[in-house]
Amino acid sequence: MPPDRRGERQAALRAALDGEGLDALLVTHLANIRYLTGFTGSAALLLVQPDTTTLITDFRYAAQAPDEAGEAAVVEVDRTSVWERLARVLGAAPAGTLGIESQALTVRDAERVAALSRGRVAPVAELVERLRAVKSPEEVDAVRAAAALAQAALAEVLPGVRVGQTEIEVGAALEAALRRRGSEWHPFPTIVASGPRSALPHARTSPRPIGPGEWLLLDFGAQVDGYCADLTRTIVVGARADERQRTIYELVQTAQRRALQHLRAGMPGREGDALAREVIAGRGFGEAFGHSLGHGLGLEVHEAPRLAPTADAPLPLHAVVTVEPGIYLQGWGGVRLEDDVYLGPDGAVLLSDGRTELLELV
Ligand code: ZN
Ligand code: ZN
Repeated sequence: MPPDRRGERQAALRAALDGEGLDALLVTHLANIRYLTGFTGSAALLLVQPDTTTLITDFRYAAQAPDEAGEAAVVEVDRTSVWERLARVLGAAPAGTLGIESQALTVRDAERVAALSRGRVAPVAELVERLRAVKSPEEVDAVRAAAALAQAALAEVLPGVRVGQTEIEVGAALEAALRRRGSEWHPFPTIVASGPRSALPHARTSPRPIGPGEWLLLDFGAQVDGYCADLTRTIVVGARADERQRTIYELVQTAQRRALQHLRAGMPGREGDALAREVIAGRGFGEAFGHSLGHGLGLEVHEAPRLAPTADAPLPLHAVVTVEPGIYLQGWGGVRLEDDVYLGPDGAVLLSDGRTELLELV
């Protein structure tokens, strides 16, 4: 059995609440609720007070919530309204300053909380997310397992990819292989983009058939124990790569390798981003790399920290992030290579295989 981290996570959160001058925090973001209590359902409010943690949910989770939360929370099930139940729980405690998650709560629900709270309500941002950015060894292992699963699914599917198949057909084969191998779900819509459509960084997988000698970009993920992997590979189908394809590919590959080699915990996110961006911009393709270099990975596929030109925050030790440079040329196509790494004391450790040699399916 892996160690149960929920008690120490809640203790760390309470210390953060103290630091912010809060008496309690209403946690409404589901990934945060899962992190603190183990509850995986789709509807809950979590009230973290100095001495108690209360999980409020509805009838659908009457059995599941106590089972998953165990000792980590007192579970209150309300058949009519979780908000009325929250009012009652709050009413039993001294009025103080209640934090709400400004990045997660809708304006309507924030007004609801303000109406039922007897004390002050203070919006705070990303208190739990900051804790989640620092991974335990088990969390790192789960992302590694998800990456291994995703790679095995890709290796199974690629030999069957042919010119004339549609993006959706390739996506269906890949998603089936991911599920068959045990992925809990697809953490985001699978991207399979061929030819000029590979220049759309977030392309929607379409009925377009793959043409000979075209790029095929696959961005896909897997989920193990709730933890996500996120990988991108770009290959050539039906022919050898032409000279321009090879040049662009090698540039993205060089940029990614430089980032993987020099990325360190403690450096601001923008310095991490620059490791790859300088390589691409130095060859005149800066405008064609229009997104950030990477993002945190964990219970969510996009979480803290960020590797972006605007990210001043230092990358935490024990973070897990993606490294995904790309070059996108409208009308021609695009190349992106994405791997997942753990930021340990000695630098970035690959969790995915980092095998990015150019693959030509001929
Ligand atoms: Zn991705
Ligand atoms: Zn990504």
